[in-house]
Amino acid sequence: MEKLSDNTQTTFEDIRRNYLGICENIARSGREVRIMAVTKTVSFERINYALDLGVSLLGENRVQEYLDKRENYKPAEVHFIGGLQTNKVKYIIDKVSMIHSVDSMRLAEEINRRAAQHGIIMDILTEINIGEEQTKGGITADSAGEFCAEVAALPNIRLRGLMTIPPAGCSESVFAKMQELFEHLKVENAHNRENAMFDTLSMGMSGDYETAIKYGATIVRIGSGLFGYRKYL
Ligand SMILES: *Cc1c(COP(=O)(O)O)cnc(C)c1O
Repeated sequence: MEKLSDNTQTTFEDIRRNYLGICENIARSGREVRIMAVTKTVSFERINYALDLGVSLLGENRVQEYLDKRENYKPAEVHFIGGLQTNKVKYIIDKVSMIHSVDSMRLAEEINRRAAQHGIIMDILTEINIGEEQTKGGITADSAGEFCAEVAALPNIRLRGLMTIPPAGCSESVFAKMQELFEHLKVENAHNRENAMFDTLSMGMSGDYETAIKYGATIVRIGSGLFGYRKYL
């Protein structure tokens, strides 16, 4: 198999093998879990290959990179998963179907405003900083209830659930805490708004997705485990 002229040495065959392995692990878990292919630094040739394999959801976390690449890949459902500056919302509001990384009212209000301008209702997730790490974005578990209620009240936003990045190598109890918070807020949110649809827990990356699935993840976000290790140039 030919090596790709990209920033890793991963071949198409590697991607295929990785994808089938992930599918097998998910099938073995017996749960309904959606695989998101995280495409940062990945060339559109490889993204298209993943789409051909059956990947149906892409995760982009850099606004400019997404805008530069998107014309080149096949139509796909795309969610935005990275840190999002308020002034960049306008560039992606009509180009993604969900934003996973909402962690401030300012950002939520801007998404609401831009969604209203486009006549759409944007699906979002509240990002939770479950490990309370200073280097990471997200709402603490303690303030999540109040925050979610406020966000859910915005008319052009539909709060679909929670997203988190657990600390690397953390114990399973952190995942369990996240699951508990999700189940709790699901009940709360049903009262916040008519037609509430709080059904998405975006948790788990290449290194921890199997643990995340055990604790109720409905979307796992896989980058390196699918496309190989990233080399940031
Ligand atoms: C890069 C990234 C991932 C994927 O990470 P891997 O460890 O490569 O699977 C998942 N979620 C977010 C928010 C990311 O930025």
